[in-house]
Amino acid sequence: PRTLAIRVTPLGKDLPGSAAVFHDVTELRRLEKVRKDFVANVSHELRTPITAIRGYSETLQSGALKDPEVAPKMVEIIHRQSERLSELVEDLLELSRLESREVKLNISHVPMAVATARAAETVRPKAAGKNIQLELHVPTDLMARGDERAVEQVLLNLLDNAVKYTPPGGRVDVFGTLEEGRCVVRVKDTGVGIEPKHLARIFERFYRVDKGRSRDMGGTGLGLSIVKHLVGAMEGEVKVESQPQVGSLFAIFLPVAAPEAASG
Ligand code: ADP
Repeated sequence: PRTLAIRVTPLGKDLPGSAAVFHDVTELRRLEKVRKDFVANVSHELRTPITAIRGYSETLQSGALKDPEVAPKMVEIIHRQSERLSELVEDLLELSRLESREVKLNISHVPMAVATARAAETVRPKAAGKNIQLELHVPTDLMARGDERAVEQVLLNLLDNAVKYTPPGGRVDVFGTLEEGRCVVRVKDTGVGIEPKHLARIFERFYRVDKGRSRDMGGTGLGLSIVKHLVGAMEGEVKVESQPQVGSLFAIFLPVAAPEAASG
């Protein structure tokens, strides 16, 4: 039962007067568990590539280096794992900056067609390699109020996932619209989809539907948490609908940019 409450000492000068803060013990316990799980996850995720790098470099040192059959393969694995390590560290830093609110958003007008096109450029080679049709349907006058870099990052993460979780020969479409005073961008894929029981959790840090497979595909498990944070920081929302074996639809809702004040 979530009824037990304890009193926590007032949190210092920046709180007004004698404000008393009540916390729910159950909530405190939950947060502590989240923190512990996070540390355990980070350690595990970091250890995996480190173990591979150490193992293969030791094997190379103790003779395999002279074997022209296996040496290049081992070097290739070391390279791939070190890239994975740096991707993880980058994502972790981004997430921690976001959570500590160190990231200062630069809120202005964001032309969604431009942001979408930029994000799409990055994933195009990967889509082409898998023979995935990637099409953008975003009106040029669709303007959101947000941070340009953050919007691009969000779209990139969603597009990257869409391409990653769609089998060869599929398609990815991006639709931009204005709905009920909000700027909406939907990323739709014909991929593997997500079962209902996983849907609510995919925005959690390190949550992956299929750990092994998703790790092989090069994911860090942090992409969607970053999306959620960035969209939230811009006073927006992210939603998902999905059907296994049919595909997924991720939608971001952002405030619409106020029309530019007429100048001159
Ligand atoms: P990852 O780096 O593993 O892709 P994310 O945080 O970006 O991590 O996504 C979390 C999980 O959500 C993924 O591991 C995958 O299982 C699922 N997922 C995300 N996007 C899609 C998608 N477009 N289609 C199917 N599954 C997806």
